[in-house]
Amino acid sequence: MFKAKRNGAGISGSYAFYSQGMDAHIAGKLFLESGLRKALHQQEFFLVYQPKIDVQTRALVSVEVLLRWQHPERGLISPSEFISIAEETGLILQIDAWVLNSACQQAKLWQDAGLTPFRIAVNLSANEFTSGLPSKIEAVLRQYQISPDWLELEITESMLMHNTESVIEIMEQLVALGVSLALDDFGTGYSSLSYLKRFPISSIKIDRSFVQGIPADASDCAIASAIIVMAHQLQLKVVAEGVEATEQYQFLSAASCDEVQGFLFSRPTSPQEIVNLIGKVF
Ligand code: C2E
Ligand code: MG
Ligand code: MG
Ligand code: MG
Repeated sequence: MFKAKRNGAGISGSYAFYSQGMDAHIAGKLFLESGLRKALHQQEFFLVYQPKIDVQTRALVSVEVLLRWQHPERGLISPSEFISIAEETGLILQIDAWVLNSACQQAKLWQDAGLTPFRIAVNLSANEFTSGLPSKIEAVLRQYQISPDWLELEITESMLMHNTESVIEIMEQLVALGVSLALDDFGTGYSSLSYLKRFPISSIKIDRSFVQGIPADASDCAIASAIIVMAHQLQLKVVAEGVEATEQYQFLSAASCDEVQGFLFSRPTSPQEIVNLIGKVF
């Protein structure tokens, strides 16, 4: 009797807790969703840029464009919190278009300032990978008169899962425009290695989750080294993301990784700061 009562209380207690948690979760999503609709018009988005460093020359060779949302009440919100909601609601298409435009506008300013050429890498959402993409990219390059070799597009494995043939066709059209393609978060998706051979990508980015364990975790070291060797044999460049410690950089450099990106070199930063980092030996 006593036991049954306790169990009963326990179950209803945890049920109430669970349901409250769910309500809070849904409320939080709705809050972000309605906020996202306004964010574009109210200019709450801005871009930050994170350098990728060439391991050989130790110079900045590329910057990854990362989206930030300055929410009027909640403050700065990270893309990992709102990109999936934007994808579910379809708002991502407008957001990605805004990112691409603003990044190219910025690239044009850098290009016109006569800076040593470097690439700008824009992240694309899976929803974006449709037959209309190449003409969108072509239009924005033309609008801002950006040399196509300045633009790199970062895509993830999940985008390559469905309709492989049409995906390859879109990728080939993008490459024909002169832009390059990088496979982001490599190793976290399905990672069918045959993809690497079939897709016209020029680089892969080793995911931060593998870089984190270097050099203490023997498996992470083995995985990172193996990715580098394999990629080089397929004539692909390798970028390691999330490099935070000197030991990680030393390991990756010894393993012939081509480029590194992470807080060790620079956090994502403003366009003004990027100008100061060009020409610097990291
Ligand atoms: P990602 O493309 O893999 O970007 C790398 C993430 O790692 C960024 O997080 C960056 O700030 C973070 N990072 C870089 N170096 C370090 C490091 O040394 N240590 C740690 N702990 N983190 C590091 P962020 O900016 O929060 O972006 C998260 C994800 O959101 C991105 O992952 C990307 O998938 C997505 N994202 C960001 N901007 C955009 C965008 O404009 N469009 C789309 N569709 N997705 C975006
Ligand atoms: Mg990326
Ligand atoms: Mg990544
Ligand atoms: Mg990542």
